[in-house]
Amino acid sequence: MISDNSEQTIVAPATAVGEGGIGIVRVSGTSAEAMLQRFFRSPGAVDQFESHRLYYGHIFDPDGAPIDEVMAVIMRAPRSYTGEDVVEVHCHGGPLIIRRILDLFIEAGLRLAHPGEFTLRAFLNGRLDLTRAEAVIDVIRSRSEAAGQLALRQMDGALSRVVYSLRDRLVEHLALVEAHIDFPEEDISPPTIARLAEDVDAVSSEIDRLLAGFDSCRVLREGLNVLILGRPNVGKSSLLNALLGESRAIVTDIPGTTRDTVEESLEIAGIPLRLIDTAGVHDTSDLVEAEGVRRAGLRAETADLVLFVIDGSQPVCDDDLLALEMAKDKRCLLVVNKSDRETLELTPPFTDLEAVPLSAKTGSGLDGLKEKISTLFFSGGEISESTLVSDRRHREALLRANEALTRFREAISATHDPEFLALDLKEALQALGEITGETTPDDILDKIFSRFCIGK
Ligand code: GDP
Repeated sequence: MISDNSEQTIVAPATAVGEGGIGIVRVSGTSAEAMLQRFFRSPGAVDQFESHRLYYGHIFDPDGAPIDEVMAVIMRAPRSYTGEDVVEVHCHGGPLIIRRILDLFIEAGLRLAHPGEFTLRAFLNGRLDLTRAEAVIDVIRSRSEAAGQLALRQMDGALSRVVYSLRDRLVEHLALVEAHIDFPEEDISPPTIARLAEDVDAVSSEIDRLLAGFDSCRVLREGLNVLILGRPNVGKSSLLNALLGESRAIVTDIPGTTRDTVEESLEIAGIPLRLIDTAGVHDTSDLVEAEGVRRAGLRAETADLVLFVIDGSQPVCDDDLLALEMAKDKRCLLVVNKSDRETLELTPPFTDLEAVPLSAKTGSGLDGLKEKISTLFFSGGEISESTLVSDRRHREALLRANEALTRFREAISATHDPEFLALDLKEALQALGEITGETTPDDILDKIFSRFCIGK
């Protein structure tokens, strides 16, 4: 896709398919204005369209028959989303009308845009760096307020600003090191070496700081996988329903009714959550039930958090211990359910877990549980300066940059050979450049932009 002819003028519907108040057809490229001149007529007969001004008029087909009453605007290069001439035709939001205008422009020689191609052009024309372009899709897709906020900050360039400033520091060091490659008779002086090492350490710590925020950022973006685990009849389905505030999973007195996993999405304190109720864990010879138990174990492996439920009114039994075995090594909160009944004292090994008493039946203690979940992943609840990295691609590039810097630090203590030092710095710069898009390979760019929708 990247290698596609960017000389061509592209067109796509910019609004969602289906009926709506208005529909927007968007055009980008050198022939954009020609479309207006050929097919759009304004009552005031316009010779020259002013940029960024909305005109009222009609779109006509080549036979002179009106297609729709519209508003049209041209945003001339470079002051447009793509950096090229962009025309938008705001028509009535019926699928047929949008289709007819699209067909009209395509028959006149335009090409239907690929998904994300407008944003790709914005990126290629230097209107957006890659992190900001990627954030566009996150803004569109964000499912929670906090995720939206994070994406907006990224779209505003918060991450790229940090990455650029780190890059600038490394570029300066590289220039210094390379100067010594050109003049090998001159050693890099010990004070310069010390200064270099110190600043590279500082850059490295900043990258660590960015990486430290990844988990909470990822959770915001992708949602938190929360698994409800426990033996049958402790109230797992009831807890799911109580958290959802409605009855979805089946609640019964017969142990083992949730035979497979039930999954629901909800939001707690702005955090998107995927809540997964599992089959009750117990020792069983029933094949279907055993399969449910096996699946619960598999889900536990990928969960971000396990809500381990016990019945606080009953003594701990072997099945509780069996279930707990599945949650080992996981972030875990112990939900001591049925607090509306008389509850027993906790015994080991459950005394080691952070316990939240609640009653799924009456709802008491639910707020406490929600608060615990939110503080567990967002201690302050705020998205801070350090929570900027939510994308695995960015994380991987930062890790690579830091590995190269670690090699640089090792090299600088062992040898002062500027060739070696330059190599490590260049690798770190390459990795940082992949985040902002300066050095990102084309196939990765293709992958990123193909996640976009048509018309964006
Ligand atoms: P699961 O098998 O772990 O999913 O358990 P269920 O949610 O199906 O609940 C099993 C039984 O315990 C049902 O009869 C529920 O009504 C009851 N139950 C669940 N939570 C509570 C609670 O907080 N208090 C009381 N008294 N009963 C509860």
